[in-house]
Amino acid sequence: MDYDVLVIGAGPGGYHAAIRAAQLGLKTAVAEMGAVGGVCLNVGCIPTKALLHAGEQMAESKHAREFGLTFNETKLDVSKLNSWKEGIVKRLTGGVSSLLKGNKVTVVTGEAKFIDANTVQVGDQKVTAKNIIIATGSEPATLPTFPIDQKDIVDSTGALVVPDPIPGRVLCIGGGVIGFEFAHVYNNLGSKVKVIEFAPQVIPGADADATKEFVKAIKKQGIEIEVRTKANSFEKKEDGLHVEIESVETGAKRTEVFDRVLVAVGRRPRSRGMNLENVGVKISDRGFIEVNDKLQTSVPHIYAIGDVAGNPMLAHKAMKEGLVAAEVIAGKKSAMDVVAIPGVVYTSPEFAWVGLTEQEAKDKGYKVKTGVFPFAASGRAMTLQSTDGFVKMVSDAETDLLLGVHIVGPHASDMLGEASLGLEMAATVSDIALTIHAHPTLGEAVLEAAEHVHRQAIHISNR
Ligand SMILES: Cc1cc2nc3c(=O)[nH]c(=O)nc-3n(C[C@H](O)[C@H](O)[C@H](O)COP(=O)(O)OP(=O)(O)OC[C@H]3O[C@@H](n4cnc5c(N)ncnc54)[C@H](O)[C@@H]3O)c2cc1C
Repeated sequence: MDYDVLVIGAGPGGYHAAIRAAQLGLKTAVAEMGAVGGVCLNVGCIPTKALLHAGEQMAESKHAREFGLTFNETKLDVSKLNSWKEGIVKRLTGGVSSLLKGNKVTVVTGEAKFIDANTVQVGDQKVTAKNIIIATGSEPATLPTFPIDQKDIVDSTGALVVPDPIPGRVLCIGGGVIGFEFAHVYNNLGSKVKVIEFAPQVIPGADADATKEFVKAIKKQGIEIEVRTKANSFEKKEDGLHVEIESVETGAKRTEVFDRVLVAVGRRPRSRGMNLENVGVKISDRGFIEVNDKLQTSVPHIYAIGDVAGNPMLAHKAMKEGLVAAEVIAGKKSAMDVVAIPGVVYTSPEFAWVGLTEQEAKDKGYKVKTGVFPFAASGRAMTLQSTDGFVKMVSDAETDLLLGVHIVGPHASDMLGEASLGLEMAATVSDIALTIHAHPTLGEAVLEAAEHVHRQAIHISNR
């Protein structure tokens, strides 16, 4: 055997697995057919966050008028914006390459296909390994009536390249995390944006109250949102893309004109075309590779992690699974045994959550008690000109156990760490309420939401 471990795919899951395997003394290789860093670094998490930041700076330059700061003219150099974003991607992917090299992980370039359960063809090389970790990720789901040309009809990768001029009217098909992040980017850059969602609620799976609060804040910024709505087809005419939009409830159809359409209707696992069927690796109907809590597939020395191994399709879930798979291979007592995986929409305000929604907690049979603290009552939020949103805490009324935290507000993603740790450590709401939080900080809203669960918040009435 050439290697103890061969990892297929160098995305967040794959490079975490490879580095941890090497740290544990295993001879490790990674096969990658594209750029190291995978979707997250190249066309996902990192470039979207760069564009979101740029858009927010433009919006904030306008808000500054409120405290007396005016700029003569906000002017955006689109090519500079694109190259700044690319520069960040380059720096980070370069960093991943050096980390792999520094840990003596061999990178084999090419598309990987299984020959047998221990042999993989990577480009023109044959690589053998005792253990194989599949980390091939996912790709955008498509709509047959909206074929992607990365010009008029774009997927998330096309939407990352900001066109010059900025499109006047943008339609986002799909009200999930990716749809909303791009809606926010383009709205801040000056487009008129509409988001349409087939389901009755945007951000599927999120807490219903928190989603309502999120939608309220986002609508205030001029983004139109329609649920129970679908886009059927389009026709390109001189004045733009004439899109037929249908109400799912009434069946009423109308045509609206846009300059660009973003298809953000989900992602599908990249599990096909690797000859997995012939080595006996089971794939579910939805295309995910089936794994147990040690990330082993139906062939025990073949593992699968990240987007290809199931929902939620998030980078930090892929990273954690990568570590677990490597540790299991190294003989460590490790398993994917986590209390909760956080989710974040990096709009402004951000929407971040971890643990159970109120409904999920009720469905599990808990006697639920909730507490809510609005940022409108936060001194720190006022000084940041960002008072939309709230912290909602879900708990078990009988034991005071913390069950979930849902935050719509500034820097919600960074505030979530406390809640994640609380859930992992089985904290009670009182544990949080008894912890001194620095003043003035946004994190105090988490403390006050905990106090509100007990109807003892200080800065709001406790009805
Ligand atoms: C626009 C966008 C924004 C996102 N933002 C966030 C965010 O803010 N936070 C977050 O947590 N998640 C975000 N995600 C999701 C995140 O990118 C994924 O969850 C994450 O990249 C999954 O990691 P992975 O290692 O499973 O796979 P991937 O990152 O998809 O990497 C898989 C790698 O495998 C390679 N590969 C595939 N098949 C083969 C083969 N046969 N041979 C060799 N190589 C192969 C691919 O080239 C790729 O490099 C975002 C996604 C998108 C599209």
